Amino acid sequence: MSVITPTSTDLAYQQCINPSCRATFAVSQTCFACPKCGDLLDVVYDWDRLPVPSRLSEFESKWSDRLNPLNFSGVWRFRDLLPFAPPDAVVTVGEGQTLLQTADKVGQYVGLAPGGLKLQYEGMNPSGSFKDNGMTAAFTHARMVGARRVACASTGNTSAALAVYCSATDFGFKAIIFIGSGKIAYGKLAQALDHGALTIQIVGDFDDAMQRVRQVADRLNIYLMNSVNPFRLEGQKTIMFRVLEGLAWEPPDWIVVPGGNLGNSSAFGKAFIELKHLGLIDRVPRLAVINAAGASTLEHLVGHGLTWNSGLPDAELTESYYQKLDAEHLKASTIASAIEINRPVNLKKCLRALDFCNGVVRQVSDQEIMDAKARVGSGGLGCEPASAASVAGAKRLREEGIIAPSDRVVCILTGHQLKDPTATVAYHGTDQENFEKILGSRGVRRAGFANRPVVVPNDLDDIIRTIALYSDAPTADAAKM
Ligand SMILES: *Cc1c(COP(=O)(O)O)cnc(C)c1O
Ligand SMILES: [Zn+2]
Repeated sequence: MSVITPTSTDLAYQQCINPSCRATFAVSQTCFACPKCGDLLDVVYDWDRLPVPSRLSEFESKWSDRLNPLNFSGVWRFRDLLPFAPPDAVVTVGEGQTLLQTADKVGQYVGLAPGGLKLQYEGMNPSGSFKDNGMTAAFTHARMVGARRVACASTGNTSAALAVYCSATDFGFKAIIFIGSGKIAYGKLAQALDHGALTIQIVGDFDDAMQRVRQVADRLNIYLMNSVNPFRLEGQKTIMFRVLEGLAWEPPDWIVVPGGNLGNSSAFGKAFIELKHLGLIDRVPRLAVINAAGASTLEHLVGHGLTWNSGLPDAELTESYYQKLDAEHLKASTIASAIEINRPVNLKKCLRALDFCNGVVRQVSDQEIMDAKARVGSGGLGCEPASAASVAGAKRLREEGIIAPSDRVVCILTGHQLKDPTATVAYHGTDQENFEKILGSRGVRRAGFANRPVVVPNDLDDIIRTIALYSDAPTADAAKM
């Protein structure tokens, strides 16, 4: 591979995160691992020579100019903080329209004081998950380097986002998606197919699909859209900018996020490193990354002492854990399919984020995830199973006393409720066989917060009696109607 080195006029470039390498590459380079040592790459900026607002509140001026697509986008209105692309190269479909809800009923479940829990809902993105934040940035880079065919391996949401950016833009992008067999939620598969992506289903799980897509991208010179792509993480930093925006620029005590491939947690860490460096915040929130118990590599490794260690984490520890997974044929398994990943590609960057944000890692069971999801649904905008891991994790940390009752906590709801209706209906429904098949098989024993549909004969009196029985309306009033 030919290497393109940055010139002295480049204000943004790529750099290997390995402190004993630190090789640099121009933004125009397309590679998703350091060509010198194989480690992850960062997008870095020469902040001293870049125009950066002196206060975060200056970004509010963008709100009055929303007819400009760059200002409408919840990613690109922060473009001064991810300045790797000329504005006319930006590929946007209006991503980043998120909102921060105060969710007191969910907060009570978690164990927080009123006003203490906010849910950052990312389901309002064009493809229904936070992935669009990263995709817009990676597609912008793909456009800058003239890529046409773009590919990813996916548990579902990355492929849905990739498919949207190909179908809804006019730059000749062709989507190629790799998914594991039987491992993708229907809502997400539906999106890939509906948006016309070439969908390649291989026998295997996400980790297998990831390995293949890397090989194929290499061999066929296809642009890789997985979160090893450092440009995606630049876009995902803006999730934190919008959290701060929703809190009038006052950092919360905690950010809680589900961890799969660890792109999001890595991006959040980078956002806070840069905001602190630029003097735009004076306090850094603590970060909690939540694994599913059936896919808990990060939790295991951090629990066994793995740390960032100034960029030189103990590779032996990670390698021997992966060898053990292989030897025992252990595959990731959780109802939270979006985080059903055993070999998180951004592990190192996540360790850096944990280091900078005084972070913690926990794992939660599928039971805790499904219960938390039901509470989010009944007290908020709803979410898919993986997203609810954040709420389940916050509850766990609250019970352990690590999060205090008075803390201000933001849980990231990463994906839309309708992404995985199968899990939701299995939990709430009355079909015991379906419950066993979808949830029981993963160790979920109870649906303690189920909202069961009520089966009633098709008879007006029966229906009226049933409504009276299940609601507060007096029977006499109901009968008069
Ligand atoms: C991708 C995804 C995650 C995991 O994010 P990572 O950046 O891979 O850790 C969590 N929740 C949802 C809904 C996702 O789509
Ligand atoms: Zn390197």
